[in-house]
Amino acid sequence: MGELVAIIETGSHHFSGCFADGVMFATGCTIGKSNLILNPLGKFALTLYVPKSHQAVRVTLRYERMSQCLDMDFFKLRAQGIPPFDLDPQVVDPLIQEVLTKPWMEIFALQEFEEYPFDMVPEVFEAVQCSICHELVVKSYAHQFRHQWYCKPCLDQLLHAPLASKG
Ligand SMILES: [Zn+2]
Repeated sequence: MGELVAIIETGSHHFSGCFADGVMFATGCTIGKSNLILNPLGKFALTLYVPKSHQAVRVTLRYERMSQCLDMDFFKLRAQGIPPFDLDPQVVDPLIQEVLTKPWMEIFALQEFEEYPFDMVPEVFEAVQCSICHELVVKSYAHQFRHQWYCKPCLDQLLHAPLASKG
């Protein structure tokens, strides 16, 4: 609970899905620890939230900078379907060098929050057995119906079962 939370807005299936990998590597926030929150808006933004103090900082890539990047050979070749690991280092290295040497304020914009509206979801330690498939389900994901516990797929199946035909 005392750990940093990263909220990522990039989304997936586009030219910069790997933004999230960079955030995971740099912050240590992971899906498994539930402190990597995906808020897929297709925006190049990351919010870092500190649960203890409720402070946060939202980091965005500056529009001008990102537009310049999209005109570079790196993105042109990527758009042609060439995966990043097949790109010539001569195409990739200038991008890396620029990120490492340019003043960060020219690349990123910051927005600070003294009080950020984020509710931490407490960890659940209870699990129940689904009365149909008999598998274990974390209680916050299970549904109770007529005094029985169900996992979501089994409850859906129960509620959408075909009606018995008469005759
Ligand atoms: Zn089930």
